Amino acid sequence: MDIRPLVPEWIRTLQPYPPGKPIEELERELGIAGSIKLASNENPLGPSPRALAAITAALPRLHLYPDGSAFYLRRALAERLRVSAEEILVGNGSNEIIELVVRTFLRPRDEAVMADQAFVIYRMVTQAVAAIPRVVPLRAFTHDLEAMAEAVTPRTRLVFVANPNNPTGTMVGRDAWRAFLRALPPRQLLVVADDAYADYVEHPEYPDTITDRGDGSVPVITLRTFSKLYGLAGLRIGYAVAPAPVIEAMQRIRQPFNVNALALVAAQAALDDAEHVRRTLEVNRQGMTTLTDAFRRMELPFVPSVTNFVLVRVGRGLAVYEALLRRGVIVRPMDGYGFPEYIRVTIGLPEENARFLAALEDALREVR
Ligand code: PMP
Repeated sequence: MDIRPLVPEWIRTLQPYPPGKPIEELERELGIAGSIKLASNENPLGPSPRALAAITAALPRLHLYPDGSAFYLRRALAERLRVSAEEILVGNGSNEIIELVVRTFLRPRDEAVMADQAFVIYRMVTQAVAAIPRVVPLRAFTHDLEAMAEAVTPRTRLVFVANPNNPTGTMVGRDAWRAFLRALPPRQLLVVADDAYADYVEHPEYPDTITDRGDGSVPVITLRTFSKLYGLAGLRIGYAVAPAPVIEAMQRIRQPFNVNALALVAAQAALDDAEHVRRTLEVNRQGMTTLTDAFRRMELPFVPSVTNFVLVRVGRGLAVYEALLRRGVIVRPMDGYGFPEYIRVTIGLPEENARFLAALEDALREVR
């Protein structure tokens, strides 16, 4: 049956997100065991133990629908972030919130400005609502906010800024962020500050997009997630902070029970787990030093990163990725992002980093 005539043209031409294979399946195909995954910027320490305890305690109530208003989590976040609960929306991962933003604010043929080599979901969800992605090249692996402001037209309704950016690990500083807000036309569009990796950044010039919003004439939607620092990627939970009327508009189209009951209690427990957060940052800091020192020794250029992953130039990226796979180390090839000479690797535990580096030396000898 040819269903093409039934599929809107903007869906037919949509490039789907390439799903990864389950680790077990990869291992079976390659005839290996005990591989490590440094491909999706997950927390190598695992979930917060406090979150696990909260999940266990909540299991007997799984026959009940979750709290559709995320009352307690929003209250806890509001206190911590010094905003009101009306300025917070909780989503099934920040991915869901990106989609809610687009479905709330973009009409067909409206434009959304985004960087060329940023999180691919922006482009996909924009196209999925028959709106038009306006894609601006990075400059020195970093969002070029001046060029992005210049790409705004009277049809632009959204601008996406991933700060820090995935897959490059770079950030824009406070001055550039403030100048950007001033350069945008007031009351015409919204800015999405996707701060998924904010928790890792220790750079003194990193802007806090929740408090640093210029004169307020350009509404800012800050996105954060429990998938990275808090180690809860498998549960799917993230949140948005934005002016109350912006949140209210998005609430209209949100599914009543978009976030599951276990995710809600786990996120709240993880927020309070200062020890897990401290250990995570420590492991990341040390691992980043280990990897970048090794890259220097191996004379592999890399993009200095403020996050929990790093982009490193290895020559034939896809071939190196495959050679690493055969050695049981899963990283992310970057040809899909237009960096065919690079791979992206997530900082792991010390023993995982060591294993990755040994496998990389081996893989480079094989591939070169
Ligand atoms: N934004 C960026 C920049 C990301 O890298 C990711 C995860 N890869 C997300 C958002 C989505 O995170 P989640 O849906 O797991 O909250």
